[in-house]
Amino acid sequence: MAEGKKKLKVLFASSEVAPFSKTGGLADVAGSLPVALHKAGIDIRVVTPRYKSINIFGSEARLNGRVPVYFIENDAYFMRDNLYGDEKGDYSDNLDRFVFFSKRIPELLKEIDFKPDIIHCNDWQTALVPVYLKEIYGTDPFYSGIKTVMTIHNIAYQGLFPKSEFHKIGLPWDYFTVHRLEFYDKVNILKGGLVFADLITTVSPTYAREIQTPEFGYGLNGLLSERKDSLSGIINGIDYNEWNPAKDKELKYHFSPSRPDGKYKDKSALQKKTALEERANAPLIGIISRLADQKGLDLVSRIIHSLLGMDLQLILLGTGEKRYHRLFEGIKRKFPGKASINLKFDALLAKKIYAGADMFLMPSRYEPCGLGQIISLRYGTIPIVRNTGGLADTITEYDPKTTRGTGFVFDRYDAGELFNAVKRATDIYRQSGLWKKLVTNAMRCDFSWDSSAKEYVDLYKKIA
Ligand code: ADP
Repeated sequence: MAEGKKKLKVLFASSEVAPFSKTGGLADVAGSLPVALHKAGIDIRVVTPRYKSINIFGSEARLNGRVPVYFIENDAYFMRDNLYGDEKGDYSDNLDRFVFFSKRIPELLKEIDFKPDIIHCNDWQTALVPVYLKEIYGTDPFYSGIKTVMTIHNIAYQGLFPKSEFHKIGLPWDYFTVHRLEFYDKVNILKGGLVFADLITTVSPTYAREIQTPEFGYGLNGLLSERKDSLSGIINGIDYNEWNPAKDKELKYHFSPSRPDGKYKDKSALQKKTALEERANAPLIGIISRLADQKGLDLVSRIIHSLLGMDLQLILLGTGEKRYHRLFEGIKRKFPGKASINLKFDALLAKKIYAGADMFLMPSRYEPCGLGQIISLRYGTIPIVRNTGGLADTITEYDPKTTRGTGFVFDRYDAGELFNAVKRATDIYRQSGLWKKLVTNAMRCDFSWDSSAKEYVDLYKKIA
């Protein structure tokens, strides 16, 4: 940034921020994109709720020692075991909780005397901020000229509530119309953000196109098509320091594209730790995922017995829907030594799997961006993915003739196609020269934040 030029100021609002709180990819993005934006010259601060799991003294912390993070406190709303719900489902007062959070965000700005050029909102939990800025705070000169960006991380989660809860939002009834927050006689919080934000983004170019269609738009495709000139898709990056096979403290053996051998030692350490047979030559397939339909686990369930009939090993890490817990419990009993089933959330084990597995399975029905396949590339773990959303934008089919490509990709949401993709992967695996080249291709990809952060900066400049 040129000397003397005023830095752009941005407030980044998110209901989860790694390493403080995390249920999925949103937390990874909120914990790493602001750091990249800071490096790119943006004066950026982050705001998020203070959950029970956050043991930080005081109401402020920093990301990477630099980017300030402010925690919004409310013991009744946020001092709970989980972020959004428990085994009985979503918390029944989620609307109250995130209305509170969203109203506190503009107030906080005055308290810390930070007037941003832009407030960057993420998913439905902060989607009311653009609405409140116009309706409640619009007449206050402190807020005049603040622009808003609304990022969709997964359009299936919209914050839908019954009409009877509309009063909790604190807006006049003329906001309950199809052109604003009404959605088939319900309140749709995300829709408010999409109508009122100055710009809309989502987390991959392909998903930006897909959500304008009925198949992927979950009822908001019409609105998004109308706003398509304000909608863009920017692929997520990952923090290349946090995910670094050459340096990770959590790994016993290190590796890089030019010195790949440590990966195979990490593999045997992983096999040992998880009671898999220690077999260097059996392809080890990893799955790290929320156990939800979105992630394609119904396809996996249809072929899992045939898969495990092949000469390969499977390691699964995930939590989610009960029926998948039951399915994988059964697999665990039936295939000891061959399938390692870990039904929990465990960041350390996740890293060991990314490092030690040979392949990473991600057959999603839809995938806004997906981080698992990007992290896998970094660790030379070859993604097997469906051709959708961010998976389509990050992985290309390996061609053994040209030796170009980074993974194995199938098109239709179909168990047979998935099985064939795994078959292609294991066939190449047995041709070690070709496989080594593929692993190098994967590790040489660059999905660090640098280029995507620049795209956000360009968007910010366009509206500020
Ligand atoms: P989503 O946000 O839809 O769940 P992403 O692929 O974008 O999917 O991000 C998921 C993130 O959460 C990745 O960093 C992945 O490694 C991590 N993750 C998912 N399940 C687990 C788990 N059981 N234990 C540890 N990390 C997990």
